[in-house]
Amino acid sequence: MTSPNFIPSTKPLPFELHPSSIQGLGAFAIRRIRKGTRIIEYLGERITQAEADVRYDDEAMARHHTFLFNLDKRTVLDAGTIHNEARYINHSCAPNCEALIDKGHIYIYALTTIEPGDELVYDYGYERTEDMGPDAEALYVCRCGAPNCRGTILAPEKKAPARKKPAGKAVSKSKSRSKTDAGAKKVAGKKSSADTRKSTKRTKSPSRKRAS
Ligand SMILES: [Zn+2]
Repeated sequence: MTSPNFIPSTKPLPFELHPSSIQGLGAFAIRRIRKGTRIIEYLGERITQAEADVRYDDEAMARHHTFLFNLDKRTVLDAGTIHNEARYINHSCAPNCEALIDKGHIYIYALTTIEPGDELVYDYGYERTEDMGPDAEALYVCRCGAPNCRGTILAPEKKAPARKKPAGKAVSKSKSRSKTDAGAKKVAGKKSSADTRKSTKRTKSPSRKRAS
């Protein structure tokens, strides 16, 4: 957090950063946060997909880091450089927050009412890709401790047929992992099932686009 690329929130935040049992630092509520509250914007450096591919190489990394967030087909937010406190919000399979895209920005919202002391978490739901085998599960192992922990930060396996979405466009042949753009995952109102885009990229997924 002492990095020159750390841009602290200018507004008082309803959480503080402390060591987390999930991983590294986590974000813990210091007051009650009501369901639906927009908590913080997820800041990152805006870069192209291609640049993200150059910067990050999953195979070369022993442990994944989760700083990329797909904003749209072309743009990725990289919180590995420019970032704010949102970067430290951990993954959980039992989330109390969600990440939504709203007009080109990503925000973390309270999915439930959060009590002081609770750790803020959202489901990264890394996109599964066709080339993934058991080793991927191992690389993206989840130890969130939730009773319903699925054991991996990868999104649950989808069983329904793929949605008709331009495949592979938002996510090119890349080895980096990033959070995926909202369209790739659940679109509001649709129980969709299907983000089977062709890609080699691990992408974190906002739940959906914010209905505007
Ligand atoms: Zn889990």
